[in-house]
Amino acid sequence: MNSITCPKCGKECDKLFDSVCRDCFFETFKLIELPLVLHVRICSSCGAYFHRSRWEDIGNIEEVVLKAVENALFIHNEAGDVELYLEPREVTPYMYRVRAEVDAIVREEPVHAEAETEVRVQRIACDMCSRESGGYFEAIIQIRATGRFPTEEEKKCCSAIAREAMKSMKKKGDRLAFISECQEQKEGVDLYMGSMNASRQVCRAIISELGGSFSESPTLVGMKDGKNLYRITFAMRLPEFRPGDVIKFRGRIIQIRSSGKKVNGISLEDGSRFISTPEEIKGAEKIANIRDMVYTVLVSIEENAILVLDPETYETVAIKKPMSFSAEAGDEIPVLKTEYGIFALANFELLREK
Ligand SMILES: [Zn+2]
Ligand SMILES: [Zn+2]
Repeated sequence: MNSITCPKCGKECDKLFDSVCRDCFFETFKLIELPLVLHVRICSSCGAYFHRSRWEDIGNIEEVVLKAVENALFIHNEAGDVELYLEPREVTPYMYRVRAEVDAIVREEPVHAEAETEVRVQRIACDMCSRESGGYFEAIIQIRATGRFPTEEEKKCCSAIAREAMKSMKKKGDRLAFISECQEQKEGVDLYMGSMNASRQVCRAIISELGGSFSESPTLVGMKDGKNLYRITFAMRLPEFRPGDVIKFRGRIIQIRSSGKKVNGISLEDGSRFISTPEEIKGAEKIANIRDMVYTVLVSIEENAILVLDPETYETVAIKKPMSFSAEAGDEIPVLKTEYGIFALANFELLREK
C-alpha cells in the first residue's frame, strides 16, 4: 500500500482528506454548531411559539423548546445519515437546558458530536390573545328568530355550537377563531367574532342543527393601509317553526320536519308530504308540538277511520285513519289533541321524532 505523508503533521497515512490526514481534517471539522443561549417567545395564554416573525401552535413548552433547538442547530452539510438526540431539562419554567448529540457519516467516517445550550423562555401575549383580550372583532353574528324570540334552549344551543366550532377551528390552525364577546338579550344573542370566516362556519353549523338562514352585510368601519376596512354582520335567523312544531296552514294541519331554505313537513290528516318556504308559511298558526302527544286506547278500526278515546274526556271519537297504520283494537296509540281535533300519529312519526 502506498503511504502518504500528511503535509500538516507529518504523519504517515493511506488517504488524505482535503490534502491533510484524517486526524488533522477532523480536528478542525465542525459537525454541529449550536449557540450557547437561545431565546424563545411563547404566548403565556395559548402557548403559541413565535418563529420567523409569526406565531405558530406547535405543542407544549417542551416541544417548543426542542423545536427552537432544532431550528438553531447547524449541522455540516457534508454530514449524511444524521441521527439527532435532544435531551431537554427544565431548570425553571423560564429556563431549559438542552443537550444535543449527533451521529453522522462524513466522508465514509462515523463522526459524533455533542453540544449543550440554554433556552430562555419569554412569556408574552401573542397577537391573537392580545386581540382576544382587547375585545377585537371583525364580525358580529346576530342570532334572532323569525316571528318570535329564540327560546333559552336555542340561545344556549347556538352559543355552544359557536364555542365548539371555535375550538375545532383553532385546532386546525385558525388563530382568529375566537369569540371576544357574547351578549345575550331577550331577542337573541350577539356574538363578537375574531374571524369572518369562522363566523360563516358558525352560521352554517347552526343551520344544520336548528334550521334557519343567514345573510351577510358589510359595514365600512375605517381605513387601514389605504384599504377600506369592513366589519361584517351576519344576520342569523332561526326558523319561525321548528321541527316537531304542528302548524295550521291554509286549512291543513302540518307537522314540521325540517326548516332551512325549504320547509319540509307532513300532513297529520292524510300523511301527505308538505314542502314550502319560510316566507310562504310566515305567520301560520302554531297549534301544538309533537312533544305534546299522549297515548290513548284504540277502540276499533273502520275502513277510513278509527275510534279512539279522547285522552281528556274519555269519550269515544272517530278520527281519520293515518297512513301506514298497523295497530289493533285495544292497543295504546299515540295521538295529538289540538283545538282542531285529535290526530293519530303513525308509528313511523314516533320513531323519527324520538
Ligand atoms: Zn495530519
Ligand atoms: Zn396566545
